Amino acid sequence: MATSARDPYEVLGVQRDADETTIKKAFRKLARELHPDVNRHDPDAEEKFKEAAEAYEILNDSERRALYDRYGHDGLRSGGYAPNFEGFGSISDLFDAFFGGFGGGVGGRAAGPAQGRDVAVGAEITLADAAEGTSVELSFEAVDACEVCHGNGAKPGTPIVTCERCGGAGVLQAVTRSPFGQVMRQMACDVCGGDGRVPSEPCEHCDGRGREVRRRTLRVDVPAGIGDGQRIRLSGRGHAGERGGPPGDLYVLVRIAPDERFLRDGDDLVTVLDVPAPVAMIGATMTAPSLDGEVEVDIPAGTQPGEVFVVRGEGMPRLRRSGRRGDLRVVVNIVVPRRLTRDQRKQAEKLADSMTDENVRTDESLVGKLKRLIGAA
Ligand SMILES: [Zn+2]
Ligand SMILES: [Zn+2]
Repeated sequence: MATSARDPYEVLGVQRDADETTIKKAFRKLARELHPDVNRHDPDAEEKFKEAAEAYEILNDSERRALYDRYGHDGLRSGGYAPNFEGFGSISDLFDAFFGGFGGGVGGRAAGPAQGRDVAVGAEITLADAAEGTSVELSFEAVDACEVCHGNGAKPGTPIVTCERCGGAGVLQAVTRSPFGQVMRQMACDVCGGDGRVPSEPCEHCDGRGREVRRRTLRVDVPAGIGDGQRIRLSGRGHAGERGGPPGDLYVLVRIAPDERFLRDGDDLVTVLDVPAPVAMIGATMTAPSLDGEVEVDIPAGTQPGEVFVVRGEGMPRLRRSGRRGDLRVVVNIVVPRRLTRDQRKQAEKLADSMTDENVRTDESLVGKLKRLIGAA
């Protein structure tokens, strides 16, 4: 490891004759600066913190320090010493073990208000609803303050008293062994959960927890133009917080059911119009489906397969831009008639026989034709 090569005195920034207190102070200061939780912008912070911890581990132990002073890192290695962070799941555990839950890391739950978690709920709507804007009624389960005790966990009318286990401090001190020797760590009191106060008679409705899972129903407005997979955030509508903490948020994941008439492409809608080949030859006005019903589309004589006609403003409304709408793109599918009657066949034969080069001449390039046919235009 490259980090073990640095001089521990240099790492901690102390003199070679520094005493125990100075070394401890230097490490504490450095560790606070380097703690990964306060250095998210610095990807090297964790490595630097490990390096500092390692340096401290060497200098804080008089035997190791003497070994290092005489023989350097090689002396430590040949003496069987290797940095030992075993038993710590993460750097933040290591930090907590030393500082006793500084910053509320994973090592010990910090007592105090905690924000409630977020809730995610799905809602499926139709494309027409997405175009109009709608409101959906949601039903979901979430943690709420108990409706009988209003969250304090006490049977109504009974007092709340100081927790005997922690003496009202809300935290317990525990001594654990670590690479730095014995360290004190704090954890939230397991009786009062950090409150320092407990109900003398627990609320029967929630068993003194103060919280219960309840089914809620909520009507949520879905704005016109919303897209499939978009989320609506309702601040403060998630799980209730703990010990006076704020509630979490509610996220509504909007799914739009497939529509058999349209595909959606951003704010545009795409539909396919079947045009019989003879109609495409002579041209006609046809109707295509639109969100509001139908629209007329002019199919000019000589329309080719895959041609696209754009009907402006017949697409989806643009989200949060009232009055603005995308377009409807009508893709022409030329249908070649099948199962002809004898008479139809005769007419087709006659037409086929009359074809000239002029009828089928095109100045479209190969790429142009392909783009039209596969819809890449
Ligand atoms: Zn209750
Ligand atoms: Zn307690």
